[in-house]
Amino acid sequence: MSTILSSVIFLSIWISALFVIYKNAGKLKKAINQGQGSFDYTNGSERGKQMLKVAFGQSKMGARPIAAVLHLIVYVGFFIVNIELIEILIDGLFGTHRILYRVLGSFYSGFTATLEIFAALVLLAVILFWLRRNVLRIRRFRLSEMKGWPKLDADFILYFEIILMLLFFGMNTSDMVLQSRGVAHYTEAGFFPVSAIFAPLFESMATSTLIVFERSFWWLHIIGILCFLNYLYYSKHLHIILAFPNTFFAKLGAVGNMNNMQSVTNEVKAFMDPSAAQSADENTIPSFGAKDVTDLSVLQLLNAFSCTECGRCTSVCPAHLTGKKLSPRKIMMDTRDRATQIIQDTINESNEEKHLLDGYISREELWACTTCNACVEACPILIDPVSIILDMRRYLIMEESSGPADLNSMMSNMENNGAPWPFSPQDRMNWTKD
Ligand code: SF4
Ligand code: SF4
Repeated sequence: MSTILSSVIFLSIWISALFVIYKNAGKLKKAINQGQGSFDYTNGSERGKQMLKVAFGQSKMGARPIAAVLHLIVYVGFFIVNIELIEILIDGLFGTHRILYRVLGSFYSGFTATLEIFAALVLLAVILFWLRRNVLRIRRFRLSEMKGWPKLDADFILYFEIILMLLFFGMNTSDMVLQSRGVAHYTEAGFFPVSAIFAPLFESMATSTLIVFERSFWWLHIIGILCFLNYLYYSKHLHIILAFPNTFFAKLGAVGNMNNMQSVTNEVKAFMDPSAAQSADENTIPSFGAKDVTDLSVLQLLNAFSCTECGRCTSVCPAHLTGKKLSPRKIMMDTRDRATQIIQDTINESNEEKHLLDGYISREELWACTTCNACVEACPILIDPVSIILDMRRYLIMEESSGPADLNSMMSNMENNGAPWPFSPQDRMNWTKD
């Protein structure tokens, strides 16, 4: 293939891949912007520190040390190995070979060796992750919400990473052997301690065959990375990107702090000052709580798209552990699925009569929550499933007046007796008489 033709094909593949990424990013933005309000940029430096600590520093992963170490290897390795993209991009566009050698000189050997070692560690960590999921069969990976696509997605990305790493080593090994034969274009550059192990597999091949192998590995490796980036939109692995904004915008301060409802504040203000209320738009009918994702906030929707489906929240949820029909992870997955479905319905011009409430999340799940916030504490990227549960309960109580019988009688006691007990205020001190 001539260099010009190869560069044109390379550029076309990149442009097509970036175009699809751009389209999907637009869909994601639309899905999140269905939420109410806007993101909170106040206390930027505190938020920045929170993001650095939790997303960059992985500070909440330590509770499960083995998973934490494996995750750290994949996370750091992923960034380091992909530095190679810079070189691949320049080589692909200009038909050069290992261009960074010209820039780094004698440091280039250290650079390639580091990439190789990290790639090997990533490969090892990914295999261990697969074993954990499929051989050890840890309970939280086998719950009902993890059947079907979520299970496939989790495995699929592991296979994807294994293939990418093998292509990386295939590319380096064949290149290394071609370099040792002094083949034109394959300038001697780099040190490949891991690929050297596989070199005997290629050494008996004819040079022309070896060039075909090297080129195939090189092209498949870069196409694989672009496919991986495009696949993220459809996967829980979107957290690779969204964990950063999610931890930046996450609530600061105590996790148990409940927000005031703006709709209630508005009603109270209108009650206190009717003249101000009259000047407000009379056609606006206030709504309370959340029936669908469009009633949730943009942060709650960002939370849903950032969820890694790790199940740490569900594994500490007392309601779940005592056999109730509640999994905070499912709350987040349902929210994300519903938000995606609305965008898909808009594109297909269809309209399914389904809401987040009842269509995805049942009332039984909502009322099973004890609001203990253990799930929020356990989440490695500061997701808050409780806020969604509370907003949906607020809808049930304030819009439908429907709640569990115990709660309804407690609330009518509060209304009538000023206390949760079924006694009139006069009778409350009767117990002191004798
Ligand atoms: S707050 Fe609710 S969902 Fe979260 S752990 Fe407690 S009971 Fe489970
Ligand atoms: S909400 Fe957090 S802890 Fe729960 S599954 Fe998602 S990322 Fe994991």
